[in-house]
Amino acid sequence: MQDIEAKDKQYVWHPFTQMQEWEAKPQKTIAAANGIKLIDTEGNEFYDGVSSLWVNIHGHRKAAIDEAIIEQLGKVAHTTMLGLANIPATELAEQLVEITPAGLNKVFYSDDGSTAVEVALKMAFQYWQHKGKPGKQKFISLEQAYHGDTVGTVSVGGIDLFHRIFKPLLFTPVQIPAPSCYHCRLASDPASCGMLCVNKLEQVLAAHHEEIAGLVIEPLVQAAAGMLMSPPGYLAKVRELTRKYDVLMLVDEVATGFGRTGEMFACEHENVTPDMMMLSKGITGGYLALAATLTTDEIYQAFLGGYAEKKTLYHGHSYTGNPLACAAALANLKIFREEQVIAGLAPKIAVVAQKLAEIRELTHVGEVRQRGLIIGIELMLDRIKKIPYPWEQAAGAGVCLQARKLGLIIRPIGDVVVFMPPLASTVGELGEMMDIIARAIKEIT
Ligand code: PLP
Repeated sequence: MQDIEAKDKQYVWHPFTQMQEWEAKPQKTIAAANGIKLIDTEGNEFYDGVSSLWVNIHGHRKAAIDEAIIEQLGKVAHTTMLGLANIPATELAEQLVEITPAGLNKVFYSDDGSTAVEVALKMAFQYWQHKGKPGKQKFISLEQAYHGDTVGTVSVGGIDLFHRIFKPLLFTPVQIPAPSCYHCRLASDPASCGMLCVNKLEQVLAAHHEEIAGLVIEPLVQAAAGMLMSPPGYLAKVRELTRKYDVLMLVDEVATGFGRTGEMFACEHENVTPDMMMLSKGITGGYLALAATLTTDEIYQAFLGGYAEKKTLYHGHSYTGNPLACAAALANLKIFREEQVIAGLAPKIAVVAQKLAEIRELTHVGEVRQRGLIIGIELMLDRIKKIPYPWEQAAGAGVCLQARKLGLIIRPIGDVVVFMPPLASTVGELGEMMDIIARAIKEIT
C-alpha cells in the first residue's frame, strides 16, 4: 500500500491542497467504508465527521442506494438529455418539485454545486433580457460567500483567500455584509441592533435594483466561510426585500439541503420560497455527482418561444441528468421517507447541542455555532478580546489532525473546526465524535 501512496504523490494534484506539504508528509488513502466509518489501506477506521465533504447522508454502502444503482446499471448507465428524456431523471424531477417549497415547479439538472449555481446565474441574467429589462445584469452576493469554484461562482464568492487572486478574471457583484453577529462590523451590539445588515441590503436595493438581476445567498449558514450563521428572520427579510424591489432570490442549498439544518431545506425554517433553489451534495445521499436548479413557472415561461426567437437556455453538460445518479437520488429520497429521517433528527441535534455547551466553556473557544447537524467551533487565541491565532500556528488544522489520531476525520476552515456528520449517525456515535473533538481541542489549544 506504500506503493499507492507513492503513486498518488507522483500523479495526483489534490483540490484545496498545498501539494508541497502533501508530498512531504505521510497521507491516508481510503480503501473502503462501512456505515459512517471510513477505512484506510491499513484497516484503520475513522468516523466520517465531514460526510465526505458534506455529501453523505445515510452512511456509506447503504444497501438501498447500492441496489438502486446496480439495478439502473442493468438498464442504462448514461444517455443524453439533449433531445431525449430518461426515466430516473423524470421521476426525480417530479419528487424534487414535491419536496421543495411550493412554486418551484421546474428542474434543470447539472453535475455539482458549482454548476447548479452557474445555471441559476445564467438563467436569472437571461430571464431579464427576455422580460424587456436588459439593464438588470448585476448580482448581489454576500461577503464571505462561497458558491463554488467555476468562474461565475467565484465571481459571486467573497472569501479573499480563495477568490481574490481571480478578481481580474471575474464579473463584479454588489457585495453586502455577511449576517454573522459574531463578526459583525456594522453594529456595536449585534444582539439588539435589529439587523443593520438588512438595512444595508435595503439601501443597496433602493439604489441599484434597476441594474440587479438577482441576489444569491446561502440560506442560514455560510458554510465555507466557517459555518457563519445568520440571525433568525434574516432570510425571510431578504425574501421580502427582493420581492419589493423585483430582484430574483437565488438560494444556494447545496450545503444546507437534504436535512442538514434539521429541516429538509433551510428555506423551510423561515417559510421562504425563492425564485430559484440550487441543490447538489446530499441529493444522491453522497454517492454520485448530480445537481439541480429549481425554478418557477414564471421564469420557465419567459424562455418559451420558437428557436428563431433565441430564447432557448443554451446550457447543458454531457452528464446532465445522468440516470445512475438520478436512480441514487430517488433511493436517497425513498430512505428519507421510509426511515423518517427528518423526524428522527431532534435527539441527535440535542446531544450535539449538549456537548457543544461544554466545548463553549473551553479557554480557546471563541464561539460555537450549530444549525441542526451543521457545526462550527471557532478557536481564538484570546476569546475575551477576540484575538485570533496567528495564521502560522494553524490551530484549526492542529485540532483536526489530533482528532484524526483519535479516530475522527474532520476538516478546519481556518481556525473554525467544522463538524458535519452523516444524518445517519446515532446519538451514541454523535456523543463519541463530540467527545473526540472536545479532547482534541483541549490537547492542542
Ligand atoms: N455552494 C455551496 C453553498 C457549497 O458549500 C459548495 C461546496 O462546498 C458549492 C456551492 C460548490 O459545490 P461543488 O463543490 O459540488 O461544486
